[in-house]
Amino acid sequence: MPHKKEAGAGFTVTGEIRDEFLESLWLLEETGNGKKTDKQSVFTLAVQEGYIEDNAGVEAVINDMAAKGDILLDDDYVSLSERGRDTARNIIRRKRLAETLLSEVFALGPMEMKNAACRFEHILSPEVTDSVCSFLGHPPSCPHGKPIPRGNCCKKLAHHIRPLVMPMKDLEPGNRARITFISPRDHGRMDRLSTLGIVPGTDIVLHQKKPAFVIRAGETELALDLDIAAEIYVKIIS
Ligand SMILES: [Zn+2]
Ligand SMILES: [Zn+2]
Repeated sequence: MPHKKEAGAGFTVTGEIRDEFLESLWLLEETGNGKKTDKQSVFTLAVQEGYIEDNAGVEAVINDMAAKGDILLDDDYVSLSERGRDTARNIIRRKRLAETLLSEVFALGPMEMKNAACRFEHILSPEVTDSVCSFLGHPPSCPHGKPIPRGNCCKKLAHHIRPLVMPMKDLEPGNRARITFISPRDHGRMDRLSTLGIVPGTDIVLHQKKPAFVIRAGETELALDLDIAAEIYVKIIS
């Protein structure tokens, strides 16, 4: 979570506060269904989310952001400018993709997901964001059912971007890959795999898929069941 900032003289609008504020405004516009957003709702949400201390602080942020062209002011109403909307769309996209990744791939619960997604949204680069989106199959909505804004990857390039991380079973013979994570259905299986040296960070080569799925890890050749190869996620390295 962002740190609270003191309001009043010398109040500085950090990049983080700007991002949080744009996100709040996006959410208010989304739930308002095209209705104008009044200043008081923005005040309430910003203080409730805890990234600004009080109404005076929100007022200062609003004035600063309006001066910089991120938002538009119209009497008691606030809206995103075109530039602010672009930034907000990217923030919301990163956050909702992060939530989807954390809940679907890592099976995190709602609270862990919220905290981790909060951090993710600030660190995902545009390239990684599109890779995550492709990896997840360009999901239309987050686990809360809110729409995920589309990215470039969701349009024409969708099928040409190689997923960042993929199940080992989808490799082609000859592919070299590094194990990124393993999500076994039972933990005994994880232990057996680790005694065979199949752990995150291990480099493998896929030898063949038929009649048996055979990989080489270091000097060892291993035949794996296909359902196990489906639970081991890898990143292609050549
Ligand atoms: Zn969500
Ligand atoms: Zn996409």
